[in-house]
Parts: sequence; structure tokens; C-alpha cells
Amino acid sequence: MIAYNATYIQQKFIDYCRINTRSDERSEAVPTTLGQMVLLKTLETELHQLGLTAVSYSDADAYLVGKITSNLKDQTVVPLGFVAHVDTADYPADNVQPIVHPNYDGRDIHYPAAPDRVLSSNAFPALQALIGQTLITGSGDTLLGSDDKAGIAGLLGMAKYLQANPQVPHGDVWLAFGPDEEIGRGAERLIASRFPVEFAYTLDNGQPGDIAYETFNAAAATVTFNGTVVHPGEAYGLMVNAALLASQFIQQLPAGLVPEKSRGYQGFIMVLSNEGNVDKAEVKLIVRSFDTAEYKAMRAHLRREVADLNAQYGAGHVSLTLQEQYRSPGDVIK
Ligand SMILES: [Zn+2]
Repeated sequence: MIAYNATYIQQKFIDYCRINTRSDERSEAVPTTLGQMVLLKTLETELHQLGLTAVSYSDADAYLVGKITSNLKDQTVVPLGFVAHVDTADYPADNVQPIVHPNYDGRDIHYPAAPDRVLSSNAFPALQALIGQTLITGSGDTLLGSDDKAGIAGLLGMAKYLQANPQVPHGDVWLAFGPDEEIGRGAERLIASRFPVEFAYTLDNGQPGDIAYETFNAAAATVTFNGTVVHPGEAYGLMVNAALLASQFIQQLPAGLVPEKSRGYQGFIMVLSNEGNVDKAEVKLIVRSFDTAEYKAMRAHLRREVADLNAQYGAGHVSLTLQEQYRSPGDVIK
């Protein structure tokens, strides 16, 4: 039976939650906010204390990495990596006050800093599965930041456990702590040679015990519609109304492929916004699918729709920008 040091992990979690590490999409700095640097420097000290080797931080990618050295004679065992991100999502994160609810009884939780808010298992049935456990919440007016301070505390807990239990056999275990995950800029910056593993797990938001090996393939699309503006009295055969082009485009999207009709593995195209007038209109969409073939087909559908409209109304009336956001590792893992 493995006895983890729950008190240690809980205290680390609370300490990290108190540090404001909200990332900032408008910043070009690396990391985007100073608070993330504060936490990374704190973690650097702790990794040294926990006996990790090859601990290093790079200003270029703002990743802190370190290694729990193998205690095996067999040098051929492949190293394994674990990753957690230090930033929190774009919600208030000043003066976070974690509240510990030991032996949670399943009843509604009221927040001291927001009396009108309640955390209830009516709204969140998953809470029922946590009865009898220790629950930690925010105080009501900030994010707690469990995503991903829980991941960080978990990794430190593992390092402490392996340090205290050298009889537990393990190969090289690399840890990486990175910035700006919530704004989608962390992973792309990581200098891969600093994290020399072939396989790594990311610890992040999810249910206890879950291991996810795939996700959506994801793209964002912006479709721009340029109208031909003519006085309405002279418009016959000449006017092209950008707002109507946008509406026609949306009508021709596959009707069943929307989030409100999709579950499980089904993909979707979601219209995020539709703004415009006679002269100019813009439709923003996201494309999501676990299935790479479906993902490519949906992207091809968007391109075809744009080509069809240009064929109908004249070249240059409609243009498409497709930006790939991320790809599912599922195809590779399979
Ligand atoms: Zn996360």
C-alpha cells in the first residue's frame, strides 16, 4: 500500500493557489505575467530540496525542468515525463483564499466572499462522489486555480514520496512546469531538448483516475464577406449584400454538426459570432473532431463553401482564414 503524504500535498496546493498566476493574452512577455515567474522560482527551490538533478529554468521558454534520477541498475529503461502548467484561467485571481472542508458532508457550500453564490450538488452532481473526502474551494470571489495547481502539487508529492522511499524502483522521471497553457502559448514554446523524454503525461483538469490519450483536433476559422454596395434604387443585378452572404454561408453548414447535437466522439462546427452589414461581414467558427478524417472533411467543407460563393457572386467576395489550433495525439498513440 502506497501511503502518500496527503498533508504535504494539501499544504503545497494551498500555497500555490495563493500565488496569482493568471496568464494574460495581451502580454508578449515570457511568461506573460510576473506571478507565474514567482511560482516557477518557488518550485525551482523546492525541486532542489527534493533532491532532483538537472534542475534548470530557461528564460527562452519559461519552463522549469528537473529529473528524479533512476535508481535502477538497468540503464536501458526509458525515461518518463510529467508536465503541469503554472498559470490559471482568465478569471479573478487576486488574494485567493482557499477554504478546506474536511470530511465533506455533501451539503451546499456557501462562500464567505460571495453570499449569493452556492456550490450545490444539484448543479454539480459529481460532488456526491466526494462525500467523506477533503474538499478545497475558493472563497467565492476568485478562481481557486485548482487547474493546474493540483497538477503541480501532485508532482511535488510524487517527488517527495520517491525521495522518502528509495526502495521503490523507478527509471529517470523528468518533471516540467510550464507557463501560459490557458492562453495556448506554453507548449509551442517548450524547447524539446530541455525535456529529453519520448513519453510524457500532462497532469491537468479531469476526473480522478482518468487518463486521456486523445482529444479534439481543433481549428479556428474566420470567414470574411465583402459586399458590393450600390444605392438600393440602382441595385438591380449589382448589389452583393455581405450580411446576406454570411447568412447563406451559415445556412449551408452541416446542420447536424453543432455542439448541441454532438456528444461523445462526435465532431462539430460551432459559429462563435456573426457580425456584419451590407458592406462587410465576418463569421467566426471553431472546428472540433476526434476523428482526423472527419476533421479534414469539415475543413474541406468550409473551403468548398467559400469557393462556391465566390463562383456564384464573383471572386474576392468571400475569403477564409483557417488556423490550426491543436491536433489530437490519438492517431499517434493508437
Ligand atoms: Zn489546465
